[in-house]
Amino acid sequence: MDVSSILDGLNAAQRDAVSAPPCSTLVLAGAGSGKTRVLVHRIAWLIQVEGVSPWGILAVTFTNKAAREMRQRIEELLGFPTGGMWVGTFHGLAHRLLRAHWQEAKLPKGFQILDSDDQFRLVKRVIRDLNLDDSKWPPRQAQWFINEQKDEGRRPQHLEDGGDHWRRNMIRIYTAYQAACERAGSVDFAELLLRAQELWRDRPDVLQHYQQRFQHVLVDEFQDTNAIQYAWLRLLAGDRDNLFVVGDDDQSIYGWRGARVENIQDFPKHFPNTQLVKLEQNYRSTGNILRGANAVIANNPERLGKELWTEDGEGEPVRLYAAFNETDEARFVVDRIRAFIDEGHLRAEVAILYRTTAQSRVFEEALLQAGIPYRVYGGLRFFERAEIKDALAYLRQISNPHDDSAFERAVNQPPRGIGAKTLDAVRAHARDFNCSLWQASEDLLRGGGMTPRAAKAVQGYLDIIHEMQAATEDLPLWEAAEHVIHHSRLPEHFKKSRDGKGQDRIENLEELVNATRQFDHEPEENEVMSDLDAFLSHAALEAGDNQAQEYEDSVQLMTLHSAKGLEFPLVFLVGVEEGLFPHSMSAEDPARLEEERRLCYVGMTRAMQQLYLSHAENRRLHGKESYPLPSRFLREIPQDVIEEVRARPAIARPYSPRGGALDDAVESTGFALGQRVTHAKFGEGVILNAEGQGSSARVQVNFESVGSKWLVVAYANLQCL
Ligand code: ATP
Ligand code: MG
Repeated sequence: MDVSSILDGLNAAQRDAVSAPPCSTLVLAGAGSGKTRVLVHRIAWLIQVEGVSPWGILAVTFTNKAAREMRQRIEELLGFPTGGMWVGTFHGLAHRLLRAHWQEAKLPKGFQILDSDDQFRLVKRVIRDLNLDDSKWPPRQAQWFINEQKDEGRRPQHLEDGGDHWRRNMIRIYTAYQAACERAGSVDFAELLLRAQELWRDRPDVLQHYQQRFQHVLVDEFQDTNAIQYAWLRLLAGDRDNLFVVGDDDQSIYGWRGARVENIQDFPKHFPNTQLVKLEQNYRSTGNILRGANAVIANNPERLGKELWTEDGEGEPVRLYAAFNETDEARFVVDRIRAFIDEGHLRAEVAILYRTTAQSRVFEEALLQAGIPYRVYGGLRFFERAEIKDALAYLRQISNPHDDSAFERAVNQPPRGIGAKTLDAVRAHARDFNCSLWQASEDLLRGGGMTPRAAKAVQGYLDIIHEMQAATEDLPLWEAAEHVIHHSRLPEHFKKSRDGKGQDRIENLEELVNATRQFDHEPEENEVMSDLDAFLSHAALEAGDNQAQEYEDSVQLMTLHSAKGLEFPLVFLVGVEEGLFPHSMSAEDPARLEEERRLCYVGMTRAMQQLYLSHAENRRLHGKESYPLPSRFLREIPQDVIEEVRARPAIARPYSPRGGALDDAVESTGFALGQRVTHAKFGEGVILNAEGQGSSARVQVNFESVGSKWLVVAYANLQCL
């Protein structure tokens, strides 16, 4: 393979970055300018031209999906597999490191990962154990506090309360929580990063090994690294100039989770030989989309400042739809998607982006009704579903009986008659003797500290776990999973459930066995982790990824946050309303408002050809009804870029619509809005909307039989009633 194919399809600035002699590099550029592309080509260049082994490269990206795509694209460029290369998320890589060095990191061999929900439950328990009132000390806040400290690299002993009562209790909770994690051998997400950083800080021998191994370190989405991640990278780099980072300050959207955009500004200070690369040409979006996005982000002060341009034409206008309410919004979006698919496009070319996960439900329902396959990213994901977590809790218990979160979850699921009082006694004993719940149960049973009935029930649970341990010891992973699920009696329990979801849950449990069957565990050097433990970690870390589904052609639904780095020909950015976007929690605080604006910029720049923005005049969300104003971000988009899809008289519209287009369209179709019509196949309905002129004029009719449909007037043969 020749060198030129690595440089083909790159502009001059991109080529310079890809082919520069090894040195610290910061690529600072706006959305869609090819940063990720440069990073991928750089890796191929290092391997192909500089002769670096894939084994000597570490690349960090933001999601597991991005990591898979990255590896795939490098392999396509090179034409051979790149196993041995470390590509992944910070969490994934930290976990990989800790798996190989559990002893040096002072972790038990089969340490388990607590996901955010497990962490929440544990924090809650700790608060109760401290005899604090959890209405005054909300677990959510304490969880937040703990993660914030960890993200900044602070252990409880580093913290001082400064005489502050609130802080004193938060530190107490953090301390007790950490002790509980140590006892159970579990590690939360923030802990993965902190441990990995401490491992390198405290064990120069381990660090040196990795410094020798990783000749090149590359980081995508650098603007969203937090303090501990950056500290980890700096340790690895040492005084070598081998970091290649790409980012965009305008897309920093994780400040609320401790990400520090300052890392970009500081980078050239920490690595004085840094070559700075700027890319200004956008290859993703049409002129109109880009102009809209540029105008929105221009309202943020203190940007590093860069303007994007495109060689592409203006393209179609950015379309704006003012919906009556959230159902109308969903119906509109689904109609457009249907029309798009009918034109021969793939479903996967479409994304619906929203600010909060709760918004997805209405769209899911509309898509289901329309029979259009879809996939939700970042919602309640496979490994986070209750029944899956129940089954995983059993697997975790057999792997490590002292895993308290697993104990809490499995001990009475399915119910086996262990009362709240009995469990309280077990918890109290665990607290008093600083031992695990499992240990406490054994102690109490041995010491006769339970009523005969309670003792029988608790003993029953311990016996089940012992039996599972013995029976699965020599089984391959999937058979072990099957055995455990069967003997947990969860399927029988769900079969009896009356919530109508029993069958779904049973199928999900079957799918879990499938997942273990497909699970491919590639052990690291020095690694001793069993297949089961590796699978459990995988379940916690890759919760969002059900890879099998990824191959089905489906409409993509996700939050704006999870859309980072991705692109789609057709994008719907929905719920663009005050209170929702910008979110009510951020509107008052200038710094947070700017982050919301960056989020808007991220959302708009995901679109390649068509971008629709929508807001509802009446919205029911979380069971509450509101009449939100259109978002201020809409006002920041130049009027001549926008086309209103429907110029209905809107309530309190602070920007002046361009108007005209719809009136013309209505006139040219010969129908009036609200007119009743009849159609040979669909029966009676009402004209809701119209667009286009002459032979391409179309009307939207809400039929009583089939709901709303867009029809080409010239073919529909509609009769007025
Ligand atoms: P984001 O900030 O959203 O992550 P990015 O800067 O990483 O964006 P890429 O995703 O790498 O941008 O590139 C955007 C699109 O432009 C991709 O489809 C990519 O393949 C294409 N692209 C980038 N550079 C070129 C080029 N020189 N010629 C043609 N297409 C390009
Ligand atoms: Mg990118």
